[in-house]
Amino acid sequence: MNCIFCGIADGSVKSQLVYEDEQVVAFKDLNPQAPTHLLIIPRKHIARLSEADEKDAALLGHILLVARKLAQDLNLKDFRLITNNGRGAGQSVDHLHFHLMAGRRFLWPAG
Ligand code: 5GP
Ligand code: ZN
Repeated sequence: MNCIFCGIADGSVKSQLVYEDEQVVAFKDLNPQAPTHLLIIPRKHIARLSEADEKDAALLGHILLVARKLAQDLNLKDFRLITNNGRGAGQSVDHLHFHLMAGRRFLWPAG
């Protein structure tokens, strides 16, 4: 499978890593949309949230706690955590990822 985020997770594609453990990798988005814009991904290839299942419950929970830890470490009081599920929602890379964004005002509803 030719997946850019699997490549980042296994180190064969270069990125600016900010965090990694045995389950998860976090790195800077190549085209940041906010002063802080990180992507948090599972090492396991899951195409999108709708492809996850009950077996991934601990992994999905861990991703949220990594987001919380990164926000804490970066002193982010306010932040947004987003996953785009499917082309119609803006997903362009088919490997589950959560955008952790902060440092500017965000519109709500997100549009
Ligand atoms: P999506 O649109 O799928 O929700 O988000 C994909 C994100 O991945 C985009 O914000 C895009 O800038 C980022 N991205 C795509 N390719 C790469 C890459 O090779 N390296 C990094 N660091 N980010 C990437
Ligand atoms: Zn992948």
